[in-house]
Amino acid sequence: MKADIIDGQAIAKNLRDEITRQVAELKKKYDRTPCLATIIVGTNPASQIYIKNKEKMASKCGIDSVGYKLPVDVTEANLLSIINELNGDEKINGILVQLPLPSHINTARIISNISAAKDVDGFHPLNTGSLANGHPNLIPCTPLGCKLILQKVLKNLSGLNAVVIGRSTIVGKPMAQLLLAENCTVTITHSFTSNLQVYCKEADILIAAVGRPEFIRGDWIKPGATVIDVGINRKSKVADGKKNVLVGDVNFVEAANIAGAITPVPGGVGPMTIACLLKNTLSAFLKQNNLKTI
Ligand code: NAD
Repeated sequence: MKADIIDGQAIAKNLRDEITRQVAELKKKYDRTPCLATIIVGTNPASQIYIKNKEKMASKCGIDSVGYKLPVDVTEANLLSIINELNGDEKINGILVQLPLPSHINTARIISNISAAKDVDGFHPLNTGSLANGHPNLIPCTPLGCKLILQKVLKNLSGLNAVVIGRSTIVGKPMAQLLLAENCTVTITHSFTSNLQVYCKEADILIAAVGRPEFIRGDWIKPGATVIDVGINRKSKVADGKKNVLVGDVNFVEAANIAGAITPVPGGVGPMTIACLLKNTLSAFLKQNNLKTI
């Protein structure tokens, strides 16, 4: 295996340690603690695990959280009224609505009704617009985590060719904006891209956010490239007799023989997503209280 395996757990722990330090300092200086409100609708098992992990990590960093667990048939009006209440509650600094929502609820309407100042997922149109304009406020957690990983590994991203596979509003598009802001030459590819492999082969930085298990093969990758695998997929590994193994969008074994550095799944991007949610909660708190540094 040639590539360095990027330890996302360790990078995330460093970030959480810094957040913990700042939160403790806030408590000491101002007797105030940032507070995150989480909302989950229904009983989707993956969503329940994500919310539990987010609340657990918040608590480890000293951040308070309040959780709303709503029935799957909650009306959009009820959900909106809870969000309005949280928007007006000065003790709440961040609001996170776990996606996906049931189909009877208009997700875009819900997101745009969260106060932009408390939108710690960074999905509100004002926050996505600010990012596109080059004046970011709250940045979507997963692409922010990927950028921090890249800065740790490569130090300076300026002038590098970056290829993003996937154009979702949650990962692909904000990722491309962040890489542009770092002076990368950015190509966004998607399900209608022809000759995807040709683009991949040119990438110094390859970000895979597709949602297809082990889709990107080793021989698509430029030797020495830095590969960030955002995908989280479940797959049965017949050869190993293992069921429901977590795999990324990149064929890890093949890619690790070609790339210069690669994130594993699990243990790569995932831990950074949660750490960046806590970073956003702290930064929302600081802005709401007109504090720049502590
Ligand atoms: P999505 O389904 O919204 O978007 C997938 C994108 O992939 C689309 O833009 C689509 O155009 C593109 N795509 C699909 N097939 C393609 C193909 N054959 N060639 C090129 N592009 C293709 O998914 P998403 O929300 O962006 O998530 C992507 C993956 O990342 C999923 O596996 C998801 O579980 C994972 N994810 C992980 C984290 C994390 O914290 N690690 C966070 C968010 C999402």
